[in-house]
Amino acid sequence: MIEIDGSQGEGGGQVLRTALALSVLTGQPVALNHIRAKRPKPGLMRQHLACVQAAQAISGAQVEGAALGSKSLRFEPGTVRAGDYTFTISSAGSAVLVLQTVLPPLLWADAPSTLTLTGGTHNPMAPSFHFLRDAYAPLLTRLAPGQPAPLALTLKRHGFYPAGGGEVQARITPPATPLQPFDLPERGALVGAHGEALSPGLPRAVATRELQALAAGMGWAPEQLHYGHARQDEGPGNALMAVLRYEHVTEVFTEYGARGVSAEEVAARLLTQVRAYQRGADDAGHGAALGPHLADQWALLLALAVWRSGGEAGFTCSEVTEHLRTNIEVIRRFLPLRATITPDGAAHRVRWQCAGGSLAGG
Ligand code: ATP
Repeated sequence: MIEIDGSQGEGGGQVLRTALALSVLTGQPVALNHIRAKRPKPGLMRQHLACVQAAQAISGAQVEGAALGSKSLRFEPGTVRAGDYTFTISSAGSAVLVLQTVLPPLLWADAPSTLTLTGGTHNPMAPSFHFLRDAYAPLLTRLAPGQPAPLALTLKRHGFYPAGGGEVQARITPPATPLQPFDLPERGALVGAHGEALSPGLPRAVATRELQALAAGMGWAPEQLHYGHARQDEGPGNALMAVLRYEHVTEVFTEYGARGVSAEEVAARLLTQVRAYQRGADDAGHGAALGPHLADQWALLLALAVWRSGGEAGFTCSEVTEHLRTNIEVIRRFLPLRATITPDGAAHRVRWQCAGGSLAGG
């Protein structure tokens, strides 16, 4: 039984999700204590309970402590079963985070799976559907060259905080040949950029003002500004996104509108995120490949590919966050890998190396 202290490092929900994903994938039971100890309301919230239940559903796990508010959990997975699953998150908890919990084990299942997830699709403090589809999934596809996309995504309905009610469909296709880890040393030249505003259930002027402020800050032309397609009844909700397509990676930055926050302030916050990512990069495309969020999420997928191939691979990122450091520590409890993080100018190099050991879970 692997024991994980949920208060370590960042001390939030990601410790739980990564531990669940790797427990199911490797077949190693896990005991988690002090779950989300560093959050104002510690323990399992609805969102996290939904992750536990989803991990249990795909693996027939024996579970103790799966209750709202619970700060400890024992999770003993069985065999992963591919199939058609529906996961409902009754609050606006992130459907995307539930999907990311079950994705790694289902990627190694013996058949494709189809998932219907309802809940939040555009939540503050979580990956948005657009980020998942346009930034995260394409990197995963590159781990399986010449094969069907391992993760195909459809957004059926947007879901915003606090109402939720969005719906995502995901088709997970395990690659026929082992994933091939690759190095991502820089982002490459900029090949396209645009802004997109979603504002269902709100006056169109909100989106217009956000896009104009974003365009002014980025020096973008009107054709680089998009009004997202969300039906009025999918709101009220507001998300402003900057999508930067480089030769080797697409980054999606998202900021959310809220009561009392002006459209211009939403755009200003988004510009702050984009500028942090652009700091130290030059026009020739030399710059850290991944932004802070993509880095902590890619760390897990790359670790799995390195582990399975027995090799090594790495990436650069613009920032080493506590999420990234903590995720690496949790991953290392399950997989025989070494990680190094080294500063390199304005960027940071992260590298996974196999440290030997047998492959649990086949
Ligand atoms: P809590 O913090 O309440 O425990 P949580 O379960 O949402 O909640 P975190 O541990 O904070 O957990 O993990 C959040 C995840 O969402 C991280 O992987 C982080 O990179 C990602 N994330 C947060 N904001 C964004 C964003 N704007 N774009 C993409 N990913 C994001």
